[in-house]
Amino acid sequence: MDASIPVNPELLRAVGLPEPGGDSKDARGRVLVAAGCLEVPGAILLCAEAALRVGAGKVRIATCRDLALPVGLALPEARVLALPQTPEGRIAPEAAGLVAGQARGCDAFLVGPGMMDDADTSGLVRALLADPPGAALVLDAGAMAALAEDPDLVRCLEPHAVITPHAGEMARLLGRERDAIETDPLGAAREAASRFRTVTVMKGARTHVVLPDGTAYRHEAGHPGLATAGSGDVLAGLIAGLLARGAEPRDAALWGVWLHGAAGRRCARDCGGIGFLARELSPAVPSILAGVL
Ligand code: AMP
Ligand code: MG
Repeated sequence: MDASIPVNPELLRAVGLPEPGGDSKDARGRVLVAAGCLEVPGAILLCAEAALRVGAGKVRIATCRDLALPVGLALPEARVLALPQTPEGRIAPEAAGLVAGQARGCDAFLVGPGMMDDADTSGLVRALLADPPGAALVLDAGAMAALAEDPDLVRCLEPHAVITPHAGEMARLLGRERDAIETDPLGAAREAASRFRTVTVMKGARTHVVLPDGTAYRHEAGHPGLATAGSGDVLAGLIAGLLARGAEPRDAALWGVWLHGAAGRRCARDCGGIGFLARELSPAVPSILAGVL
């Protein structure tokens, strides 16, 4: 019997969302996104825009040197930090100190969209988490592999972190085959939430949000069109933006998952079905949010 709690507008209204704080950009919440590589440059834009659309006041992007200028021009709202990069076009692990310094001035810190699961990324994440900046944290995509390699990193996650694996990433996290995760995604999410002591968003057609104490929520009201490149980057940015607004990790995960699904339904309606683009999700978010609150 699936004892998980459905994520719907009634639940979200009960959970609530902090009012946008004060009148200033800083009070509305500052997000740092450390993301991207030369092979996947656009993920940064998808997650950074999502953070702004859900109400954060400021976004800073930390990415490899060759991407910094084009990314800053594509998202003129962002402040951009150009980081040392490896010959392969990844953020160099020795950039961790620069990134951590930026994160100290932020309320939420998202690491991973558009980053590869490789030794450079894991080295960067390990160095970042060795001296946690204190901002609420979202680990996505390539950034999560560091947890699988170094379980001691969990001490740096609690109590303010969210991880957002899809089935393949969860398989890597738990050291299992992808088939095993797809057979029992809720069980995998429970195991990860407990092992890493962090709010776990197990993504899929049905998404499970599981807390470290085992409490589980399920969301299945998205749209098949959300299975599209870049979709998860938008979700990670939404959660980071909500954390920056002051939402607790559980609440940011629940709101983020639901808003992402609702934006998918809205885009599907507008374009007649599947075929909408991940970049079209975020612009739909403000009016959806206003309609629920
Ligand atoms: P990613 O694989 O990281 O790009 O994330 C994909 C996103 O799309 C996640 O939020 C999934 O929950 C969502 N998603 C993938 N497939 C479906 C589907 N068939 N129906 C609804 N949502 C989906
Ligand atoms: Mg992804």
